[in-house]
Order: sequence, then structure tokens, then C-alpha cells
Amino acid sequence: MAERKPEGYLEGRPLHPESLMMSYGYKPALSEGAIKIPIFQTSTFVFKTAEDGKSFFELAYGLRHRGPSEEMGLIYSRLNNPDLEVLEDRLTLWDGAESAATFASGMAAISTTLLAFVRPGDVVLHSEPVYGGTDFLLKHVLPQFGVRVVGFHAGTPAEAAETQLRRQGLADKLAMIYIETPANPTNALVDIAAYAALAARLSGERRVLTAVDNTFLGPLWQQPLRHGADLVLYSATKYIGGHSDVIAGVCLGSRALLDQVKVMRTIFGTMAGAHTGWLLLRSLETLKLRMTSQMKNARYVAEFLNDHPKVERVYYLGNLSEGDPQYEVYRRQCSAAGGMISFEVVGGEKEAFRLLNALKLIHLAVSLGGTESLAEHPASMTHSDVDPEERIELGITPAMVRISIGVEHPEDLIADLAQALEQV
Ligand SMILES: *Cc1c(COP(=O)(O)O)cnc(C)c1O
Repeated sequence: MAERKPEGYLEGRPLHPESLMMSYGYKPALSEGAIKIPIFQTSTFVFKTAEDGKSFFELAYGLRHRGPSEEMGLIYSRLNNPDLEVLEDRLTLWDGAESAATFASGMAAISTTLLAFVRPGDVVLHSEPVYGGTDFLLKHVLPQFGVRVVGFHAGTPAEAAETQLRRQGLADKLAMIYIETPANPTNALVDIAAYAALAARLSGERRVLTAVDNTFLGPLWQQPLRHGADLVLYSATKYIGGHSDVIAGVCLGSRALLDQVKVMRTIFGTMAGAHTGWLLLRSLETLKLRMTSQMKNARYVAEFLNDHPKVERVYYLGNLSEGDPQYEVYRRQCSAAGGMISFEVVGGEKEAFRLLNALKLIHLAVSLGGTESLAEHPASMTHSDVDPEERIELGITPAMVRISIGVEHPEDLIADLAQALEQV
């Protein structure tokens, strides 16, 4: 768990993350009293002494361990920058992480983190479906480096995945369990605690790590580190950025693991720039407001879709009910249903396209988590790369439409969907 700075407390009581997003980790006195952090648009930083420079570099390259309260000095913006450091401190508060690293994109965070921990001969066990870029990295890039990947469908009990791995004789080569939950676009859940326990069972001399892509529900509605995960990954392009105007990514976890991730980030040069850091700091101030409004709006929209005669099936976490094993996982690891809804129209691709082309307020675009609502067609867009047979197995049919709910008035979103469904 994170060791919060003293400013994270009031009268000995820890403050809520949303109360700290405007100020935590930033000292106005260091920036002429500016209430907001300036954009530190600089490539390099002046050392006070040569000894300082030497000491900072030792830490940056992992040549010695950091002292308990030692902060790394500023060196060069590929290694660190005040906008990123303040952002990273604030991000740790939501997930209860010791440390965070910000990247130029979600894919930069995912690829840098995977390459920090897997080596030739290793096995990665991963949930399916995963984000298209991640899928490509796992299935087409990592194998070129001698890494074997084994997939399991979201919703598979951890014991079944374990049996499969053992039957293939791969259990002792496992380096990482990689989870994306809820799965895109079906909202199928993976039990984080059960898979973290599997990682513990299969750990030998080297610990098997559990990494969770938390883009869909986090950091508000799901905090994987609290359920035993070691690493949390984000496309900050989505809810964290939240305004469809920035591409960025984040990795969070223990200080020891993040120090390793940061060495890789330094070498690959996959960090975010200062301006991206500044934009994300501004976004974090309204993160809870936005995600709460999106979550509430989604509830109204799902209710409307559930009852609509031209809607065949709705995939929404709020629809899960007692008795469903997925409901048990939901109750344990999620605190709200979030703002993502997928549904099947009555018919097929033609009907889905008719609906998408008729939308007026909701924009037809991929991506998600922004203030504006977006709709897309997974089978022909975000998941067109998935093998057609597997696509059907995963439930991604030609009739499916995915919507990311924004902060508009729910009545307007429903009115738009109602008029577009008339066209189906
Ligand atoms: C968008 C997304 C990514 C990739 O993030 P980029 O910022 O586009 O690189 C990874 N995982 C999930 C779940 C995503 O939605």
C-alpha cells in the first residue's frame, strides 16, 4: 500500500482521492506561487552539484537501491519531469499503489511493462478478448522474442485455466497472468483474486506477476491491487484523460516493480511528455464527477435498451443478478457498473449500421471514456482483427453495437437512441 505524504491527511485522517486531485504532490512555492503546476517544457534539468548528478543517475539506471525516503532528482525529461511526477503521485491515491509510471499511450504502458518482466522461454497466460493492440502484442510480437502465450476466455474459472496450463506442461514456465476485466465489448468479468491466487500457487523461485488492464472501470469502480494484482495498467486516453483529446497510459504497482518498469521506460523512451502530464492533471480534478455522471447515465440508457423491442440483448454490468457466477465476481471486485454498454439489435450488420448511421447526438467513433458519448460496431471496427470464428465464440456478433456513455443529459441520449432505433 502507498505511503501517503503528510499532505494526504487532515487531523490524522486520510483524505479521499477526489479531495487531493487539485493540490497533492505540488508545492506552489517552487513555482513562483502559481496555484496550478506550470508545464515544465524542458528537456534537461540543471544539477546543483556533480555529486547530485552522479547520485541521480545511479538511481535512474538501478545501480543502487533508493533510500527509504529518497526522491530521485530531476535529470532529463525522458527519465522524469515534474508534471509527470506530480501526476504519478496523484494517480497512486486512487489505486492504493506505492508507485506509478506515465506513458505516451496505453500501448506504451502495456508493451513496456510486459517487456520489463518476460524473457525468452517464459509463458504469459492471458484473458480473452483483450484490446486489439494488446492482442497483437501477445500473439504476434512476444512469440518473436521466444515468449509463449496461452489464452483463456473471460469468465473461465482459474482452476480450469490452471488445468489447461498443467496439461500443456507450461505451469512452471509461467511469468505473468495478464487480465483485462471487464472484457471489451461483452463486459465479461475475470475474477482478479482467483487469478492472483493462481499466480501465487504457480510461483516458484520467481514470483508470477498478475497484471490487470483496468481501463474500463478504473480507477473509480475497480482497484485490482486491493484484490491481489501486482500491476495495474491503463489507457489514460479513456476515462482518466476523459476528454478525447490526449493519448496516454499508466502502470501502477509496488515501488520495487515500478522501479523496474521505469528503467525500461527510460531505455525505450516510452514516457509521456510534460504537456500530456499537465492535461491529465487537469483531467484528474474532475475524474470522479465525470465517471459518476457517466455511470448514472449508463443506468438510464441500459434500462431503456433492456425494454426496447428492437434490442435483442444488452451487455451491461448493472444487469447481472444473483445466482449468476459473474454477479458474485462483480459484487466482490467492482463498486459500480461503469459507463460501457454493448447491445445487439434485432437483425445483423445491416440493422446495426442503420442505427449507427442514424445517431445524431452520439458520435460514431471508436475509443471510450470521454465526456461525449460514442458508438461503434465491434465486429467490423475494434474487433475486426479477431478470427471470425473466435469472434462469434466470444459473443461479438454482427448485430452488436458498443456505446461509451458520456456526461450529456440522459433524456437526450435516450431520445437519440430511440429515434435511431426507429430506423432499424
Ligand atoms: C484503448 C485501450 C488500450 C490502448 O490504449 P492507447 O492509449 O490507445 O494506446 C488498451 N487497453 C484498453 C482496454 C483500451 O481500451
